[in-house]
Amino acid sequence: TAALWIVATPIGNLGDFSDRARRTLVDVALIAAEDTRHSARLTRHLGIDTPMISLHEHNESARIEKIIERLAAGDSVALISDAGTPLISDPGYALVGAVRAAGYPVLAVPGACAAIAALSVAGLPSDRFVFEGFLSSKATARKTRLAELVDETRTLIFYESSHRIERCVRDIAAVFGPQRRIGLCRELSKLHEQSIVLEAEALCAWLSEDDNRRRGEFVLVVAGAPDVERTAGEIALDDLLRELLALT
Ligand code: SAM
Repeated sequence: TAALWIVATPIGNLGDFSDRARRTLVDVALIAAEDTRHSARLTRHLGIDTPMISLHEHNESARIEKIIERLAAGDSVALISDAGTPLISDPGYALVGAVRAAGYPVLAVPGACAAIAALSVAGLPSDRFVFEGFLSSKATARKTRLAELVDETRTLIFYESSHRIERCVRDIAAVFGPQRRIGLCRELSKLHEQSIVLEAEALCAWLSEDDNRRRGEFVLVVAGAPDVERTAGEIALDDLLRELLALT
């Protein structure tokens, strides 16, 4: 039966593209890609000549209808993004919801994801984590969001581009404190891959030392806030409050 396949593509190293991903892109009738020109380079390199249409944030709702029509006609469709796993800071969420609602299967061809790759090499607690995607490009909104996250005890993952990486790390240092540990992962799986874990203030200094350190694509893996030890008095007060609330 016709299905929508969500296919991960490499985040920089073509060797990470799996056989199953390739076969899926060959077998489907249509590939929906975030940027068809960008993805054509990948498919051409892999000898895939499946027809491609664009699906990005500005045309996603219009494309949904077209893709569901193709599924209804019995054609399977694949969704890819420019790099990594679709829907992860990339388009596709509305499409997947609509295709599911229309009753067609949505199947995963898993692969690279920068957030998970960064978490896997940073050496910060990986048992519980939250993915925050991109912080705002506006300083005020960025700091407001960081302030909301200051007590988060789980490891936090952020995406950042080269032109904002320094300001972003500086804001994290200002809001979370200079000693918060941060893993900076740059150019994962590429030629100039580099990962370093430093306290926030030291990372600011490290970034400003050399222009090359601010080049490329970045993931920040930020240690969570320390779990606050609650005093016996606070615990007793919490218990009392819970009892009082149960009475109302
Ligand atoms: N869907 C992608 C994924 O699965 O990771 C993410 C797409 S998002 C638009 C692009 C961002 O992902 C970049 O700005 C960067 O923060 C991160 N990223 C992508 N490739 C990366 C790489 N090779 N090394 C480090 N970060 C990367």
